[in-house]
Amino acid sequence: MTSPAKIRSFHPPQRILMGPGPSDMHPRVQNALGQPVIGHLDPAFVGMMEELKDLLRYAFQTKNSLTFPVSGPGSVGMETCFVNLVEPGDKVIVCRNGVFGGRMIENVERCGGTPVVVEDAWGEPVDPNKLEDALRAHPDAKVVAFVHAETSTGAQSDARALAGLARQRGALTIVDAVTSLGGSPLAVDAWGLDAVYSGSQKCLSCTPGLSPVTFSERAVERVKARKKKGQSWFMDLSLVLEYWNAHGGKRTYHHTAPINALYGLHEALVMLREEGIEDSWRRHRRHHLALKAGLEAMGLKLLVREDARLPQLNAVHVPAGIDELAVRQALLGDFNLEIGAGLGPLAGRIWRFGLMGHSCKTENVMLCLSALGTALVDVGHPVELGHGEAAAHDIYAAHHAEEARARVAKLKRA
Ligand SMILES: *Cc1c(COP(=O)(O)O)cnc(C)c1O
Repeated sequence: MTSPAKIRSFHPPQRILMGPGPSDMHPRVQNALGQPVIGHLDPAFVGMMEELKDLLRYAFQTKNSLTFPVSGPGSVGMETCFVNLVEPGDKVIVCRNGVFGGRMIENVERCGGTPVVVEDAWGEPVDPNKLEDALRAHPDAKVVAFVHAETSTGAQSDARALAGLARQRGALTIVDAVTSLGGSPLAVDAWGLDAVYSGSQKCLSCTPGLSPVTFSERAVERVKARKKKGQSWFMDLSLVLEYWNAHGGKRTYHHTAPINALYGLHEALVMLREEGIEDSWRRHRRHHLALKAGLEAMGLKLLVREDARLPQLNAVHVPAGIDELAVRQALLGDFNLEIGAGLGPLAGRIWRFGLMGHSCKTENVMLCLSALGTALVDVGHPVELGHGEAAAHDIYAAHHAEEARARVAKLKRA
């Protein structure tokens, strides 16, 4: 134990975050976090809150009035959806294809609901046919819950198709969009999603600890029609809303908002707005293709099949006989580069390379390929140094040529 007298200020090392989150924070966001604290009912703060809700509607691609950041990490956003929408005795179909689906089951049980589990293998997307069968076998299911972007495996499920099936049968959807928001296409209104939660520290590149959520009118009706109060005072939407959605009326104290964290989220969302959400999706995809080309050029294999791969989370098989921990330690120790390990049945079997938000850029892709090549050679795995970088370069060069052609074509038209 350190004697308290010896403890000095904490100065974290400078890292490059290419794991499953958190991701690198942009200096603009970091700067916003350091602004002076003001009261959480100060008119200036209230004005910022209103902007924040509009910015979140843009990020979620929704007009939902009930859209705001829950004060708590993604897990609290998850729980907010379940405690408000699941009543004791409700049947809830949960699609599980990784860690986070498992947590949804746990949430249903703790709300007194009955989970019906649709299983898919880790690394596979949720199979819409299995959901359809489950909905047919359980026509009384009130809610369907699934993870859009499974960060534990890098698999992306077809949220539009799954939500369409649920809607046909009159079930609401609870959708985990923690890793998808900002990083890959997500259209809450167009896809008809009902209760969607996300996180601040993945593709939004903000400080951890906030969970943007959005609820459709149908979901709000369900909450209003509850027979019994939910078990959570803190997460009860009807109470939180007296602070977040006062609609011109007087805002009342519920809990002290995490003021500075909200400044940071506001700035992160302003940056997303400036870039344009579709350009952000395209950027994630472009760097994913470069990283993937590099990893494959080094002889590594991706876990997820091509049409279900998340650009922002690249899971790669650890080559046989390689000490995966030694490689991660070398990346962190020698390059200040953090990547993620496998979880659950994939522990020791995969590495997870995140390309989220501000971490998703050329310099990180190139550093990562270079560092990984070095670390692999050092643990005795044969790779040709430089091959990964060359393959990534080809992708970037093709993209730049494409952009130049588009510019010329535009000039000719003008
Ligand atoms: C990170 C993550 C969560 C949990 O978010 P926390 O902020 O860690 O609580 C939930 N779901 C998915 C898919 C995630 O990637």
